[in-house]
Amino acid sequence: MRADQQRNQLLLGTFVHSKSKRELEIIHNAAIAVDAAGKIAAVERYQGSTDEAKTQALTKLGWKVDEVEIHATKEGQFFFPGFIDTHIHAPQYPNAGIFGKTTLLDWLEKHTFPMEASLKDLSRARQVYTAVIRRTLSHGTTTAAYYATIDVPATNLLTDLCLAIGQRAFVGKRELKGRRDIVEALEDECACDCLWLTAMRRKVA
Ligand SMILES: [Zn+2]
Repeated sequence: MRADQQRNQLLLGTFVHSKSKRELEIIHNAAIAVDAAGKIAAVERYQGSTDEAKTQALTKLGWKVDEVEIHATKEGQFFFPGFIDTHIHAPQYPNAGIFGKTTLLDWLEKHTFPMEASLKDLSRARQVYTAVIRRTLSHGTTTAAYYATIDVPATNLLTDLCLAIGQRAFVGKRELKGRRDIVEALEDECACDCLWLTAMRRKVA
């Protein structure tokens, strides 16, 4: 939810969400009221029509219809919870799709570390981080666990941008800055939780 959102909102129509890994719930003719702070204030569901759910939510909260921003699904549309990306390297956004036929360690040296070093320039960092936040939000990622760079000001900037643009985020400073760090990390099981370390371990061993 955007930090600068001012108005109360009412979401009307069909909602789909998972109650567990095996159970999908589809709710028709429902209303979810979201207050100006971005918190869910009421959930109303009816067997009848969406209008009934709408009226019930407004009455319950004492909101006037002309003061509320209304978003209603059309036929075939539905609301669903935002996606959560549990592992994303924000500085690598400009490098997406350029892996080619290289090896992981060579790719890190040729593309990853130079890109991350370039984000020490805060205007460059602002450009890249704004792009990755906006793009992932546009794809439905409302929460992300971001890896940033070894540079503290740029990492803080990523946090500020997430807050300003309206994406919930967990932001961590990155510790690896070169091939030697990677090899040492591979010898220390606790050094990094990056998934690609498993692949690199095979490569380096
Ligand atoms: Zn990673």
